[in-house]
Amino acid sequence: MGPSLLNITIGIAILAAIFAVLQWLWPSVPNQKTIRPGMLSDLGYFLLTPLITRNLTRISVALALIPVAWIYGTDLQGLTQGHGVVGAQSLTMQAIQIVVISDFLRYWVHRWFHTGWLWRVHAIHHSSQTMDWLASVRVHPINDVVPALLTVPPLIIAGYNPAAVAAFLPFLTFYAIMIHANLRWDYGPLRFVLASPVFHRWHHTKLAEGQDKNFAGLFPLWDLLFGTFYMPRRQPTDFGVDDPVPGHIFGQLIYPFLSSKR
Ligand SMILES: [Zn+2]
Repeated sequence: MGPSLLNITIGIAILAAIFAVLQWLWPSVPNQKTIRPGMLSDLGYFLLTPLITRNLTRISVALALIPVAWIYGTDLQGLTQGHGVVGAQSLTMQAIQIVVISDFLRYWVHRWFHTGWLWRVHAIHHSSQTMDWLASVRVHPINDVVPALLTVPPLIIAGYNPAAVAAFLPFLTFYAIMIHANLRWDYGPLRFVLASPVFHRWHHTKLAEGQDKNFAGLFPLWDLLFGTFYMPRRQPTDFGVDDPVPGHIFGQLIYPFLSSKR
C-alpha cells in the first residue's frame, strides 16, 4: 500500500528539478538559499508522510466508517462505492463537488487548527522560516489525520464515490506543494478565484498583518466570504512562528504533547 522508497526518491528529484527552475525564474524572495535550516527534517517528512502518516490516516478513516457501514447494512467497500442520488451522478460531477465541498470543510478545519491545542500541532507546519516547496511537507501526522477524519467520512456518508477524485489526487498534491514555493505568482485578476503562492505565503507570514488570514487551500472564496482574505500588492516576508517549535523532526513529532509551560 502506498509508494515505495524508490518512487518517493524519484518524486523528490522531479519536484526539486521543477521548482529549482520555477523559483529561479520567478522568485518571491530573491537569492534565497536552496540549502537551508530544517531541510533535513523536511526531507524526513517527505518519507514519513507517504510511508506512515498516510496509512495512519487511511486506517483512521476506515475505522470511523465501520460503524457507518454497519448502519447502512453494507461493508466498507460497498459504502465507499457511492450511493443514492449523489452517487448516481457522473464521476466528473462528483469529483467537482467533492473538491469544492472538501475545500470548504478544510477551510474551517484549518481555522480550528489555528486555535487552542491544535495550534501546537499546526505551529509545526508554520515553523519554517524559509518558505519553499519543500517546507510544504512539514506536517504533523495529527494535522493529516484530523482534517481527513472531518472531511472524508461526511462525503462518503453523503453518497460520494471517493474514486471520483483519485485521478486528480496527484495534481492536488502537487498544487498544495506549489503554493508554498518561493514563487511571486499572484495570478492577477484570478487572485480571488484560485489560491496562489502569494496568497498562501501570506498565510505563513509572522507579521501581524497576515495573522489568521488566507486559510483556503484552493478557493479564496471562503476567505472572501468569511472575512479572512488578505492580499496586498506586495510579496509576503518574515515567515515562521514565535512558538518554541524544535528544529528537528523528532522534537517536532512530540512537541504537541510537551507541557506548554516550559
Ligand atoms: Zn495554517
